[in-house]
Amino acid sequence: MMIRITLPDKSVKEFPEGITGLEIARSISEGLARNVLSITVNGEVWDLDRPINEDAEIKLHTWDDKEGRATMWHSSAHLMAAAIEELYPGTKFGIGPDVENGFYYDIDLGEESISSNDFDKIEKKMLEIARRKEEFVRTEVPKFEALDYYRRKGDEYKVDLINDLEDGTISFYKSGNFTDLCRGPHLPDTSPIKAVKLLNTAGAYWRGDESRKQLTRVYGIAFPKQKMLKEYLEMLEEAKKRDHRKIGRELELFAFSAKVGQGLPLWLPKGAELRENLEKFLKKVQRKAGYQPVISPHIGNKNLYITSGHYDKYGEDSFRPISTPSEGEEFFLKPMNCPHHCEIFKNKQYSYKDLPVRFAEFGTVYRYEQSGELHGLTRVRGFTQDDAHIFCRPDQVKEEFTSVIDIVLLIFKALEFQDYSVQISLRDPDKMEKYIGNNENWDKAEQAIIEATEKKGLKAEIVTGEAAFYGPKLDFMVKDALGRSWQLGTIQVDYNLPERFELEYIGSDNEKHRPVMIHRAPFGSMERFVAVMIEHCAGNFPLWLTPDQAIILPISEKYEKYAKKVLTLLNNYEIRTLIDERNEKTGKKIRDAETRKIPFMLIVGEKEEAQGTISVRKHGSGDLGTHTIEEFVQMVEQEIHRLIPEI
Ligand SMILES: [Zn+2]
Ligand SMILES: [Zn+2]
Repeated sequence: MMIRITLPDKSVKEFPEGITGLEIARSISEGLARNVLSITVNGEVWDLDRPINEDAEIKLHTWDDKEGRATMWHSSAHLMAAAIEELYPGTKFGIGPDVENGFYYDIDLGEESISSNDFDKIEKKMLEIARRKEEFVRTEVPKFEALDYYRRKGDEYKVDLINDLEDGTISFYKSGNFTDLCRGPHLPDTSPIKAVKLLNTAGAYWRGDESRKQLTRVYGIAFPKQKMLKEYLEMLEEAKKRDHRKIGRELELFAFSAKVGQGLPLWLPKGAELRENLEKFLKKVQRKAGYQPVISPHIGNKNLYITSGHYDKYGEDSFRPISTPSEGEEFFLKPMNCPHHCEIFKNKQYSYKDLPVRFAEFGTVYRYEQSGELHGLTRVRGFTQDDAHIFCRPDQVKEEFTSVIDIVLLIFKALEFQDYSVQISLRDPDKMEKYIGNNENWDKAEQAIIEATEKKGLKAEIVTGEAAFYGPKLDFMVKDALGRSWQLGTIQVDYNLPERFELEYIGSDNEKHRPVMIHRAPFGSMERFVAVMIEHCAGNFPLWLTPDQAIILPISEKYEKYAKKVLTLLNNYEIRTLIDERNEKTGKKIRDAETRKIPFMLIVGEKEEAQGTISVRKHGSGDLGTHTIEEFVQMVEQEIHRLIPEI
């Protein structure tokens, strides 16, 4: 029997039934066969040696795909467990999944313990086993047999896991002497794992339950090449230097206070200025694109969130309601701006000719996060979204998407994010019943999103089944200067809120129609965006954005008067400038300005005063020579226009 195998480019090849992923890879090229790590078969990631017995859509995964990396990392978790079992016999094992960057395993060492001092020994053992080229062998086991195996081994954690599984769904993977309860998939054998590094340990309660035993979670990462590990460790080192919490403190951008409350950032003057510059830029762009500003309060009546459905989502597990002393009204801290904007839309009767209507607000929202989850500006409890809601007709979705994409691309250019891509989330064709809204509109909107991204020439990944129940969406992912991916802006179609709020406009037929709502936030939140920005540029913000653009350094107090004159001139040109009036040597003033990452240092002394000039130094690139004020102003304007031509 022959089966039909559809490749990602939609080409179809025939193979005998029982063909494996590895054999398909080999039929394409030997090089691919050497590098392939796993295979997706009809949406499920499989081992490469598992026979395919029916027609299938497949994708082969190498290190370049996240599925390929996940397979290697999960296999490395087994490898680490095998090494630990050899070195510390009697260790019990919890769970050992792959994660975004590497893998971990939760282990119970009994009386023993391990720390970073033991990493070297474990890594060596892992590589020794990897070189043995141990095959990963999958076997399906009946539940009683699986339970029996781990009861005899004395591993109560695995017994606990198996108890939750259904008979007939249980599989073991064995490599060398190590057997693990596991769904797979795995590498064919351990040999592709060429470099490993254990990163740290942490305490982890079994099943996340504080009343149960605390296990040791050991984190690690693995690579198919030694060179990749070296580069990764260098990247980690650099990431530490760029940590936004560290730079935020050094540049006095933001702070946290236990008294104010965890996860509630305080923007210091320099940080507030930075944020204001971002807001001003976006407001200007949005005004041009036909957005109207609106402002809504920080709290809303419970009924508002019952109507919107947010009460179900955030009500029980979030901040407690606020109630009024005599009326007994209940209010919630606003978790989303959308319900408020729906009510703003309802305030007026719109006709089809008025649409689209676009309401924009830098709206601050509050969402409860557990204290352990909080992290700098990236995970906070109060944050400001650069939010807007577009209410449009179904036939306007494509145009609106295109113009939001334009705004996002303008932002990426202005902030020098050169490497970005988009992910389009569509419905799962097998579960059409779970989506609300009419089919025809969904089809139109999904098509509109795909066409809009094609028109803009964006690198797009289309994921079916990832759409929210209320509409398809587009997410922007950027890679920062260290190659790390961040999900930033989102554009989300919504058929749900217009329904729940019974929003209407009068159509050309004089009948009432429901508008489509589009949520969009190009930055996402100001907090998270600023954090990403800081780590991307290591605190060297683009000139248009940075709080202080220039600092005047008089070489002695004799030239302070001239320095003040220069300051007035530059202020007139709206160049954000300071003077360093301290009684310090010029060398020290330059070093301090460099530390503060101020783009331009303007040195003034006798010669400059006599000529009416300034000596210009640029942060990171040194002396640019002597210039007149006008020449310097031009220099600044040119640099600003390079990134934001229209301001
Ligand atoms: Zn496994
Ligand atoms: Zn929204």
